[in-house]
Amino acid sequence: MRVVKTIKQLRRAVKAIRLKGRKIGFVPTMGYFHAGHLSLMAKAKRECGACVVSIYVNPKQFAPHEDLGRYPRDLRRDSTLAEKENVDILFIPSDNVVYPKSFLTYIDVEKISRTLCGQYRPGHFRGVATVVAKLLNMATPDVMYLGQKDAQQAAVLKTMAADLDFPLTVRVMPTVREKDGLAMSSRNVYLTARERAQAPVLYRSLNLARARIQKGERSAAGIIRFIRKNIARHTEGKIQYVACVDADTLGPLKILKGRVLIALSVFFGSTRLIDNVIIPVKKPREVQN
Ligand code: AMP
Repeated sequence: MRVVKTIKQLRRAVKAIRLKGRKIGFVPTMGYFHAGHLSLMAKAKRECGACVVSIYVNPKQFAPHEDLGRYPRDLRRDSTLAEKENVDILFIPSDNVVYPKSFLTYIDVEKISRTLCGQYRPGHFRGVATVVAKLLNMATPDVMYLGQKDAQQAAVLKTMAADLDFPLTVRVMPTVREKDGLAMSSRNVYLTARERAQAPVLYRSLNLARARIQKGERSAAGIIRFIRKNIARHTEGKIQYVACVDADTLGPLKILKGRVLIALSVFFGSTRLIDNVIIPVKKPREVQN
């Protein structure tokens, strides 16, 4: 595995891989790897032959009050884990490599950046889209691998790649979970033991909602109410939002139909956890309450 820090080194290493006739699968990350990150690397390696991973905690996607300063980092451990996944290139740029002083250009994916998490994190997806566009231009991959865990991020980046004609495929892979169902996240280390014990209720609530839909519930409001109640009953978490939207456009739904994304964000203390499920709803039925 080559560890590179500059764009020039990265481009040279990518070129050497291409000369051997291999495709490039790219996994952008903020590091502090868990099994979710590793699953993306394994998939990239398997499907493309070569895997490039970036680690960059992007300051432009954190609001001033958010956790940029305390975001967990462990480059040595990350590099050992990446090596075990047979990652070919680990790209770890510094702030001045990504954002030189002269930097002025931003990417705003309208509309779908404003709903769900975007409502509460203004500027977040602008920061994400901007850094990922830059990383794509640096790494020039054939395929980019993203996690379903960050459903809105995946939707925003897919739209950006299509709108700006990035010559690549975007693959969104399933959320990897702890045994008790909690979605793996670098931020889970912030949870106290009490919060950690309550956190699996999020996924449990989503699954109970899925069961209700499978039994015929088609009212978005009914499902949202049900999930909110379940979380409030079993945890001390503070709900930021629970939403049922179209999985592709992220547009709001009143009646559940098509590919439905149920997404939520809940604070446990100062830790904000997100989770989601996608539920295919075949035939619209009568609304039941
Ligand atoms: P992050 O380092 O949190 O920015 O995540 C880097 C990539 O890993 C993003 O595409 C995430 O969606 C993905 N990811 C994060 N957590 C998980 C998970 N539990 N399962 C699958 N992918 C994940």
